Amino acid sequence: MEDHTEHVCIICGQTKEEGITIVSQFICEDCESEMVHTDTEDAKYHYFIHQMRQISMQTHV
Ligand SMILES: [Zn+2]
Repeated sequence: MEDHTEHVCIICGQTKEEGITIVSQFICEDCESEMVHTDTEDAKYHYFIHQMRQISMQTHV
């Protein structure tokens, strides 16, 4: 039996089945692939970093 648990992506806020989990936070496959291909000059990159920092802060409680 496959696990079809849905998770809410922390980047786009959509509910997806496929994706990765980083420090208990879910990132959907679309956002993950976008992160990989995002240029460091792109504003989106900074948004992702911002999201990641929020995750880090949550885990350092
Ligand atoms: Zn997403």
